[in-house]
Parts: sequence; structure tokens; C-alpha cells
Amino acid sequence: MNDRRPPATHAALNSAGPMPARASDVKVYEYRAAELFRKHGIPTVEGYLAQSVAEIRPVTAPVVVKAQVLTGGRGKAGGVKIAATTEEAREVAGQILGMDIKGFKVHKVYVVPKVQIAHEIYLSFIIDRAARCPVLLASAAGGVEIEAVPEDQLVQRRIHPSTGIQEFHIRELLGTLKVAPEVGRQIADMTRRLYRLFVTEDAELVEINPLMVLADGKVIAGDAKLVTDSDASFRHPEWEAWEDDEYTELEQEARAKSISFIQLDGSIGVIANGAGLTMATLDALMACGGKGGVFLDLGGTDDPEKVTQAFELMVKAKPSVILMNIFGGITKCDTVALGVSRVVKEQGLKIPIVARIKGLHEVEAKKILHDAGLTAADHMEEAAQKAVEMERHGGGRKGVA
Ligand code: GDP
Ligand code: MN
Repeated sequence: MNDRRPPATHAALNSAGPMPARASDVKVYEYRAAELFRKHGIPTVEGYLAQSVAEIRPVTAPVVVKAQVLTGGRGKAGGVKIAATTEEAREVAGQILGMDIKGFKVHKVYVVPKVQIAHEIYLSFIIDRAARCPVLLASAAGGVEIEAVPEDQLVQRRIHPSTGIQEFHIRELLGTLKVAPEVGRQIADMTRRLYRLFVTEDAELVEINPLMVLADGKVIAGDAKLVTDSDASFRHPEWEAWEDDEYTELEQEARAKSISFIQLDGSIGVIANGAGLTMATLDALMACGGKGGVFLDLGGTDDPEKVTQAFELMVKAKPSVILMNIFGGITKCDTVALGVSRVVKEQGLKIPIVARIKGLHEVEAKKILHDAGLTAADHMEEAAQKAVEMERHGGGRKGVA
């Protein structure tokens, strides 16, 4: 096997997939992953969770207050802070709670005892999709993002899935890390355990960054990152408890109502019927220089009430402009128009709406939309363009296409 290729970075892995990628690059909170690490015999520091400043316990020895968000790079963003006293811990917890890290709001902090670090290492296993096998990725330079490490300082070794991690992998790893024998023994043990975790927990990625070599020579996982493969969920009923972590409050509400609704980083809300059409509409929007803030797929429905429910969720997400693209078939155009016009009338909606509506009962639909103060566009490109223009002009009034 040829190993001389760029590292299978997590970013590359995450870009594949049929659904619009969320900003999230982690699927399990650090505190949950750390618990799993301990279950597999990987030492970590153990702390407690706090959701408010009042839950911060008296500090007797320095602590680290860590934002729990489903994204990495928290340290750089100011989401990991050291505190030596109770006052300081409350102060930094107050700063971190409510902070926005790459679009994720911090609702919880994990408070752990501060340790004395002598050296930081990077250690991970990741699935290389192209090679169809796990890869061991390690670096003597931990604490920084692996993408920034020069290739000659990396261990990047494919693991054959049927034989798993072997002693020669460990020797190669320790040869690159150049650590004292007693430290090496602990890292070797941790690496074997991490591989076992990777396999038994059906992970796509497990990452310890930093793997901390402490001043007293002990080795611990200083951070715990885990991305699991959702196709294996049938084997992991325990993942159900984690599921809500991944979704925003509105997305959870949508799931409870069986509505296909995803929040994205842009500000224009896109509604269409069918995942394909919804994605195509997002693409059209992108091509016009706009960015989707919501992906809402109405699917096939003939119930205006269902449309109203979905549209209400869209409104709650506070998009700057709503771009609708409906192709009437199973879902008739007038069903959608009725559901939408109800919300517009009842709420006196001020968010501009651009609607492209085509197909079965199109004429009736256009009349309903017209009566609600909206008119429809005929082409998707035209509608997308209009939505972007409206956003640029600040929105705030009921719009027509
Ligand atoms: P990330 O930025 O999201 O990857 O969060 P980490 O959990 O990796 O923490 C960021 C950085 O904070 C680490 O690389 C460490 O340098 C530092 N850090 C975290 N815990 C401790 C600790 O107990 N002691 C010290 N001295 N530094 C810590
Ligand atoms: Mn980290």
C-alpha cells in the first residue's frame, strides 16, 4: 500500500455525504467521548458539567473550564480557560457560557482539574475512504491542528482492517515520537486501546489532541474527539441518548414532527419539495451569491396543516428572506400556497418571500399567494436572484418576485 499521500484529514472526510454539511465537525461532546475513553481504559482527567455560573463548584486547586460544543478549535476561540480560584472559575465560566464558537452556542462547560503538561502529542485513527481502511495518524507536535504539521513529522500508516494494529505499527509510532521508554510504554498501551475503541464503537474518527505527557511522567488523553458512523447505529442503541446533541432546538422540534429541516450557516431560508429540489435550490442560491440558512424539504404531502407546521418552523429560524421552490405533483401547489398564506396572514409576516411555484394546481396556488400579498416567479434562477437582491436590500418587508 502506498502511504505517500496527503493525510486523510477530517475536513476531507466530512465533505462527503448526501446532505448539506452542518458546520459541525464533531458528533459527540468531549465529556461523553472522555467517558467512553475511560470505559476503554484510556486515562483522562475527570471533571463535571456546569450549565450556569451557579453550578461552578468551589475551586481548591486550579481547574480548566472547557466549552462543550460540537466543533474543534475551542482553545483558539477562547473556549478553554484556566482558573486558579473560585472567583476566576465563575468569571471564565460566565465568559464561556453563551459564547458562539464557529456558529455553536455554548450551553455547557466541562470543568476539569488542571494538569502540568510536559509535552503534547497528537494521536488519532481515521477512516480513509479512498483506501477503505483505518489510518493511524500521529505527530510529536500535539496541541496544534494536524493539517498544520509537516508530513515528515507525521506517522501516517494504514491499518489492515482484518489484522488491526500490530507491533510494527507501534514501533514505527514510538520511533517518530522519540519519547522516554516509560512514556512510550503508556502511549503504546493507549494506542492499542484507542484502536479497540475505534473499532468497537464504529468510529470514523477518534482523536486525542493533545495526548498529554505530564510533568510526573503519566500519559493522559487531554481532549477526546469522536465521530461515529451513523450507518452503525443499529448496533448502538446507546447513541440515541446522544442524538439530541447534534440538533439545534428547532431541528429537534422538526424531528418530533417528522419534518426534514436543517439549519445552515447562511441567512436565506429555502423551502422546496423533495430533497433533490431543495438541494438544487440551495445550489441556485449559491450560484447567485446567496447562502442558505435553512434547508426545509416539504416532501410529498397533501395536507395544508403539515405545510403550515413546516412553515412556522421556518419562520422561527428567522431567515432574512424565504425562497420557496415548489414543483406540484404529489404535493399540489395550492396545498403549499394555502399552508404558507395561513402563516403569513396569521402572523402578519414581515419576512420577504420569493416563491417559484410550478405544476399541479399552479394557477390556484398563484391566486392564493397573490391574495396573501405575494406573487410567484416562474424560474428557479430568477427566484434565487431575487432572494439574494432582497437580502442585500435588507429584507424586512413583504416581498414579491
Ligand atoms: P480544542 O482547542 O477544542 O482542541 O480543546 P483542547 O481540549 O485540546 O484544549 C486546548 C488546549 O488547552 C490544549 O492544547 C492545552 O494546551 C490546553 N489545556 C487543556 N487542558 C489543560 C490543562 O489541564 N493544563 C494545561 N496547562 N493546559 C491545558
Ligand atoms: Mn484538542
